[in-house]
Amino acid sequence: MKFYVTTPIYYVNAAPTVGSASTTIMCDVLARYHRLRGDDVFLTTGTDEHALKVLRVAEQRGMDPKAYVDEMASLYREEWARLNISYDDFIQTSEPRQHRAVQAFMEALYQSGDLYEGAYEGWYCVSDETFFAEPELVEGRCPNPECGKPVEWVSEPAFFFRFSKYGDRLLQHIEANPNWLLPEFRKNEVVSFIRGGLRDVCVTRRGTWGIPLPSSIPNSEGLVVYVWADALINYLTCAGYPDAPERFAEWWPADVHLMAKEIFTRFHATFWPATLMSVGRELPRLVAAHGYWTVGGQKIAKSAGGSVPRPGPVLQAIRDETGCSEERAVDALRYYMLREIPFGPDGEFSVEALLRRYTDDLGNDLGNLVHRVLSMLGRYRKGVLPAPCPPEAVLTEAAQAAAEGWDEALKTVQFSAGLQAIWSFLAVANRYVDQQAPWSLAKSGDNAALDRVLYASAEALRLAAVLIAPVMPSTADEIERQLGLTEWPRTWEQATRWGLLPGGQQIGEAEPIFPKLEKAKGEESKSPFASLRVNSESKDEKAKGEKRMVSIKDFQNLDLRVAEVLTAEPVPGANKLLKLTVDIGAEQRTLVAGIALCYRPEDLIGKKIVVVTNLEPATIRGVRSEGMLLAGSVAGDDTSITLVTPERSLPNGAVVK
Ligand SMILES: [Zn+2]
Repeated sequence: MKFYVTTPIYYVNAAPTVGSASTTIMCDVLARYHRLRGDDVFLTTGTDEHALKVLRVAEQRGMDPKAYVDEMASLYREEWARLNISYDDFIQTSEPRQHRAVQAFMEALYQSGDLYEGAYEGWYCVSDETFFAEPELVEGRCPNPECGKPVEWVSEPAFFFRFSKYGDRLLQHIEANPNWLLPEFRKNEVVSFIRGGLRDVCVTRRGTWGIPLPSSIPNSEGLVVYVWADALINYLTCAGYPDAPERFAEWWPADVHLMAKEIFTRFHATFWPATLMSVGRELPRLVAAHGYWTVGGQKIAKSAGGSVPRPGPVLQAIRDETGCSEERAVDALRYYMLREIPFGPDGEFSVEALLRRYTDDLGNDLGNLVHRVLSMLGRYRKGVLPAPCPPEAVLTEAAQAAAEGWDEALKTVQFSAGLQAIWSFLAVANRYVDQQAPWSLAKSGDNAALDRVLYASAEALRLAAVLIAPVMPSTADEIERQLGLTEWPRTWEQATRWGLLPGGQQIGEAEPIFPKLEKAKGEESKSPFASLRVNSESKDEKAKGEKRMVSIKDFQNLDLRVAEVLTAEPVPGANKLLKLTVDIGAEQRTLVAGIALCYRPEDLIGKKIVVVTNLEPATIRGVRSEGMLLAGSVAGDDTSITLVTPERSLPNGAVVK
């Protein structure tokens, strides 16, 4: 199977931020996962260089624009190398191959009759590369609140793409391919955008910095292709269009286009597929948009100054705070970015949260497991692996569930849910060691049992290394190295096979993989991390005083439904929790709710309640909770909890808004 995945190509007017890093990491994880599965993988990234702004900045610096974009592109190459991005191709739109592809594509659009001559005039913001109508301007300036710069009146001959012609075909394609656009709530935005009526789009501007329209198109002299129309075509160029038709036939269509939401609705989900339809090319198989990272609730602006979190200082900070190696810091950042927020909505980039993930998920759940198993092998068996034991069902079943959970989650690019499935396996492995208690077996001299438990525990580490490899490749290598497996030909299938660790093998010294740095009391952190932390703390303090406002869009991201309670039972060992099964119309869900002090299970059956149905699932006391019910209480008083119920009867699944 072939698997072609693309990052968007990034504007060269600013260095990479944690935002572009996260997009690129997501694509890299998909690529690594498919390589492990044995697929033929092609991962592309690159830089978008024909923006007018680029030309202006180069002029200000007295640089040749090509020299400037090359310098900026190398920043991206360095950053992606540092973040262990396994890209197969890095394209710069100023390359000759892109020039040939864009010209061939425009020629094809012209031949299809969808490119026509007209005139474009309007107020133009150079910074945003966008035309605005007079009423849209704010006091004669750019209406983008993050910009506000003066606009210029531009009137020029131009070519237009017959976008208006493709609304129905796009809607049909969306309907016929339910998983083509993700996430679901953003697909709905696309549908409304199309239903609102598509207007033909100007795809050229006058100038020299850009790719000229082919001279075969009459009256095209002096016109170059708009920077974003040019940029989208890179996906074809990388696949071999138009120079290598055989290679192109093999790789196109792309399997996944992944990007941030800002370039989804108007570009990747509509304009781009419409132009592909026009020239008779297949559409990409999946187009998926993640949300923004925010800092203190604000979008991380690409063009903003030094306060924007960039990967380099964040990595340095992780090292300063924990004493870990550069490789572990990279993996910690990769893990955090995929695990912290579900794919789709915006999420807050927070140093505290990153450190918490480092300590809890990586240090405690994974690092400790590795360290204590290897230490016991050293202590009880002089670092020699016992002979393979028969499969331990509890471990093989958990590994199977983790691999399947990941496979399933990745079909809809739900990285966070996939990682939760893998962390459930780590929880089982930790519990296995606790319950089998090798230290007691060593004391009682039950050598056969000790060998079995030590081998099974070490085998669990090997399974874990496979499972985490797409997200944390260097950590997977390190776990295998500590197990004595070097140059191990890792495959995804090995995550569900038992007994591959060779018995009798000498393993190395156990070294903590996610170390913790003990700081002297009162010692101040000097890392740039510290300033980020102070920054976000002061924001938090501010938030205490004044409620943070959310937009109507933020609220609409919540899917609230009327649900009926079908079953209710206590959660063993937790006196406040109840496990509920509820009917939300289209399906039944399991929820864990902290209402046991106020409701007896039998009193809940048949009650109509309100449930948040698109909340990221969580495992609470071993029960997977797929949603959250709404309830109110007097602040801090768990005995005053009262369920929110519809005031009059509504069917199960009715929308609450
Ligand atoms: Zn602007």
